[in-house]
Amino acid sequence: MQIPFGRPNIDDEEIAAVTEVLRSGTLVHGSQTHAFEEAFAARVGVRHAIAVSSCTAGLHLALFVRGIGPGHRVVVPAMTHVATAHVVELQGATPIFVDVDPATGNLDIDALKDLDSDGIDAIMPVHYLGLPCDMVAIRRIASEAGAMVIEDCALAVGATYEGRSAGSLGDCGSFSFYPVKHLTSIEGGMVTTDDGELAAAIRKRRAFGYNRDLSQRTRPGIYDVDALGFNYRMNEVEAAVGLVQLGKLEDWLEQRARNHSVIAEALATLDGITVFPSEVGAARSSHYCLNLVLPADGSIDRDAVQDGLIARGIGTSIHYPSAVPMFTYYRERYGYRSGQFPVAEWLGSQTISLPVGPHLGDDGAQHVAQAVTAAVQDVAP
Ligand SMILES: *Cc1c(COP(=O)(O)O)cnc(C)c1O
Repeated sequence: MQIPFGRPNIDDEEIAAVTEVLRSGTLVHGSQTHAFEEAFAARVGVRHAIAVSSCTAGLHLALFVRGIGPGHRVVVPAMTHVATAHVVELQGATPIFVDVDPATGNLDIDALKDLDSDGIDAIMPVHYLGLPCDMVAIRRIASEAGAMVIEDCALAVGATYEGRSAGSLGDCGSFSFYPVKHLTSIEGGMVTTDDGELAAAIRKRRAFGYNRDLSQRTRPGIYDVDALGFNYRMNEVEAAVGLVQLGKLEDWLEQRARNHSVIAEALATLDGITVFPSEVGAARSSHYCLNLVLPADGSIDRDAVQDGLIARGIGTSIHYPSAVPMFTYYRERYGYRSGQFPVAEWLGSQTISLPVGPHLGDDGAQHVAQAVTAAVQDVAP
């Protein structure tokens, strides 16, 4: 049995939707994008959803439209995808890295409280692997600082906090539809918000800063431009795929939760292994993957475990391969040294991400559970 870490779940329905769009002649600015936005807003429980070309584009737009730039400071967890920090850099603002909680991998609230919150202009909580951060604490700190809260929801579609969806818990959220995330639109992302002004600004700036979108133009080809903007649109093919995928999300989330619990149960019998919980306080995970975290002292060799899994046909990944401040770009730019973000550095060097996606099925989950148990036992001291 060969099980890849992730596989886009595409079948005839997506293929038919793509074919229909290609035959229609409307490849951008069409009804598919609009329909996907409406359906996604309803799923997340927000008033506005704006389709964009990627999660990164959505995060960037949120900072851009609020004028966060040179001289501003933005809190970013030290353990996340580099995109969360890069958008801050692209704006010329300064990322303030905060270490993560060893119990969850999410922003460490005590470390956040220790910052001088007066100088903070935005906080970007990342719901690590799909488990929502402690948003009550983060919102309190943000409101004291007068800071904007932008949720990085790349792995959090379907996750909830106090019964509300990730993406509805801050000023806005940005989701990813990269091929191996919960659902795909090939490439793509979605910004969600209840704030009408923010939504309108993002909508305008994702398309060059046009003063009117296509439907509002009285004479074809005539528009004015009263602001700077990007081309960060989603196209109609992407939206058609995303819309079909969204219809399958609930089944997939259930299968992910089942797969996660089968594998987590097997791992609970092993010594020295950390597995993050899928529920903490008011937070419920969307189960993006299952991180197996090996001891910080290196007593179990990660490469050896990963090789053992490859030999048993299991594909793995690493989320993420380094604490962001330890990547060469950030180290050289800000002079960070090893040991400044101990928890994020531990995760960067000692995690293995196991698959829990719907492509496993119940048999696949059992297979991963057995294989990982054997692979760890083979190399444990
Ligand atoms: C994948 C990922 C991103 C980037 O998503 P794109 O859609 O590829 O831009 C951002 N943040 C996190 C936490 C991610 O996992």
